[in-house]
Amino acid sequence: MMCAAQAGQRGRRALIVEHYHRLGEKIRISGGGRCNFTNLGASPAGYLSQNPDFCRSALARYTARDFVALVERHGIAYHEKKLGQLFCDGSAQAIVAMLKSECDRGGVEWRMPCAVSGIDRVDGGFIVATGDGPVRTTSLVIATGGLTVPKIGATPFGYKVAEQFGVSVVPPRPALVPLALAPEWLARYGDLAGVALDAEVSCNGGRFRENILFTHRGLSGPAILQISSYWDGKSPLAIDLLPDAAGATWFRDQRTSAAHVDNVLAQRLPRRFAEIWCAVHDAAGPMARLPDRRFVAIEAALRCWRVQPGGTLGFNKAEVTLGGVDTRELSSKTMGATRVTGLFFIGEVVDVTGWLGGYNFQWAWSSGHAAGEVV
Ligand SMILES: Cc1cc2nc3c(=O)[nH]c(=O)nc-3n(C[C@H](O)[C@H](O)[C@H](O)COP(=O)(O)OP(=O)(O)OC[C@H]3O[C@@H](n4cnc5c(N)ncnc54)[C@H](O)[C@@H]3O)c2cc1C
Repeated sequence: MMCAAQAGQRGRRALIVEHYHRLGEKIRISGGGRCNFTNLGASPAGYLSQNPDFCRSALARYTARDFVALVERHGIAYHEKKLGQLFCDGSAQAIVAMLKSECDRGGVEWRMPCAVSGIDRVDGGFIVATGDGPVRTTSLVIATGGLTVPKIGATPFGYKVAEQFGVSVVPPRPALVPLALAPEWLARYGDLAGVALDAEVSCNGGRFRENILFTHRGLSGPAILQISSYWDGKSPLAIDLLPDAAGATWFRDQRTSAAHVDNVLAQRLPRRFAEIWCAVHDAAGPMARLPDRRFVAIEAALRCWRVQPGGTLGFNKAEVTLGGVDTRELSSKTMGATRVTGLFFIGEVVDVTGWLGGYNFQWAWSSGHAAGEVV
């Protein structure tokens, strides 16, 4: 919609073909129904891609501030929740309505719900076969998103189009997704379902300080969702249970305490977690009586608790898809396939994946706008 509105408002004739019966369904269900529509800190550092600089140009040319200005022009009330994350005060439906009205302003046409059965390359463009008959076009923009939540319309269609035209695809996998723990880990920590704690989680170059949440199947919460995008399917996560220097100093200050280790830790961590963690790590007895070597080992384990995920909860529970159309085959200025004139890919179908907190919508807006300026 962002791309079509922009193209339409430039005077181009734009048609959206959408196979699902509801418009902008992911917007509607996002952010708990309030749509975390952008992040004020959205910059290339907040995106993962095989080609990390690719997103730079589009994000710089259509920024979070630009989208906020659009939201304000439409009189949609919003607020910052935390960490630059902007949410609607009311329903996410306001964002869908705003985009629809921008499309109307550009005279955008619709086929919806309408399935696409195939695409043929012809002289000077493409013929798209749809359930409502063929469409001939000089520019074809693929904005079919990723593979998450298939029950609301997600399909691998975009990747198939890329393959059809010889554009490579970085294998898609679920990201911003809860992680499963193996049975032996669940046997120890599974009873903690519902317990949350503040920690710093790192893995493969990603590092996030936020809550982690124990679930019946493993781990979730913002820090885990974030780090899941960096998890390679095998590495352990390193969790700092005493994040920042204050945490470490605090623990050392307890060295001479007569209290048992789990009782000391329960001052900073949920009690049930402290008890189980101490039992698993053989951290028993009063702090003051711990031999120096044990104290140092316990402190090290608290600062770097190694947790081995067994897998992810998959595309049904993921917020976004990592991987996608290989950006090394696209122009970062236009989103056009460098070897297929007239073919464009925007949004989540492209191998650009944002952090949690409005980054993915901002990529959809910025990349859509970039293509909308040239199609
Ligand atoms: C539960 C949930 C909550 C989220 N919350 C947030 C959030 O708060 N903030 C944030 O930044 N991101 C959030 N995201 C991620 C965000 O929704 C996506 O990154 C974003 O919607 C991608 O936009 P897109 O236009 O590329 O794809 P989509 O929004 O997925 O749109 C793709 C469209 O293409 C249609 N389509 C697919 N295949 C075909 C086909 N073969 N023919 C015709 N049409 C087709 C689909 O029906 C869909 O309407 C959330 C995701 C989920 C699943």
